[in-house]
Amino acid sequence: MRKIIVIPGDGIGTEITSAAVDVLKSLDKKFSLELEFETHDAGGTAYDKFGTPLPDSTLDACKTADAVLFGAVGGTKWDNVEAKLRPEKAILGLRKGLGLYANLRPVKVLDALVDNSPLKPNLVGGVDLVIVRELVGGIYFGERCESEINDGVERAWDLENYSVPEVERITKLAFETARLRRSKLTSVDKANVLATSRLWRRTVNALADRFSDVELNHLYVDNCAMQLAVNPKQFDVIVTGNLFGDILSDEAAVIGGSIGLMPSASIGELTSLYEPIHGSAPDIAGKNIANPMGTILSAAMLLRYSLHEEDAARTIEAAVEKTLADGFRTADICSEGTTKLGTVEITKEIINRL
Ligand code: NAD
Repeated sequence: MRKIIVIPGDGIGTEITSAAVDVLKSLDKKFSLELEFETHDAGGTAYDKFGTPLPDSTLDACKTADAVLFGAVGGTKWDNVEAKLRPEKAILGLRKGLGLYANLRPVKVLDALVDNSPLKPNLVGGVDLVIVRELVGGIYFGERCESEINDGVERAWDLENYSVPEVERITKLAFETARLRRSKLTSVDKANVLATSRLWRRTVNALADRFSDVELNHLYVDNCAMQLAVNPKQFDVIVTGNLFGDILSDEAAVIGGSIGLMPSASIGELTSLYEPIHGSAPDIAGKNIANPMGTILSAAMLLRYSLHEEDAARTIEAAVEKTLADGFRTADICSEGTTKLGTVEITKEIINRL
């Protein structure tokens, strides 16, 4: 059996993870997946029960599992909890505890949803890209100083640093991801200004010989931000550091039309974690209106990257696309001429199309 740890978390987390588990269970027999599910607490729910947002039992279970399916954490109920015990600390704890060094965010604009994008339909139709972001290094994890005073002037600073092994690890994953797709990789840096970016570029180029079947190009981050808005179709896989990846992946996510649709994978040294990119959406929790597709598509990524079940992953993606093409929508993406369904009902439509 292959063990999947399910962490629903808070807010809409329970509804959306339950939808994704139902989809996985429906596929189990057809593809002989032999999945076993175990549910654990994290976030505000865990704080209420155990006084901590990430109980040791949850982290330990994740470390020995085949993969983790995560909903979302957080909510106004825990606004006044002290900073180190806030629900969102569970995410940082899981990243650190599982060594989640890479975040993969695919952005695919489906024909049925081109009108939901803030960009013009002729620019977004056919967009299908993945951003591979380094997740545990760079300026977010460098030394910092909140305040120092020299000659009467206050200053703060954050240090960006990357090592060759850190860049090699993420670049290798990005090349391998490109190989599974259209074999095109764009590395994004700021090598015209930053020393860390020049090391990044040298390291990427040095690895390129081992992946000569993948076409590689480099872009400065400012140009990449612009290209994502004017010609996003040119991209297949983008690899970049932690800070640039944080910004570019949010920019790219809006191209798709709704954050409810967007999946992600955080690849780890021990176990990898799969979650939608949105938060716990307390404003719509418990109303059966949340869009479960981001989580269901995250489950497809789980099958692809952790269990190497490519056919099963594609089956889920095709079922989601067909459901949308047939005109079924949740409230966040509903428009004239489409049929609005709740979380449970649209999940049933997806399962019917597997
Ligand atoms: P959010 O992503 O939860 O919600 C933003 C808006 O998008 C809301 O209007 C919400 O209703 C809508 N939305 C989000 N997911 C949706 C879905 N699946 N279907 C339909 N609509 C959806 O962001 P927020 O409101 O800024 O944050 C709410 C809480 O979530 C906060 O406590 C925040 O810290 C937390 N958060 C958690 C994660 C995580 O667990 N990975 C990520 C981001 C935010």
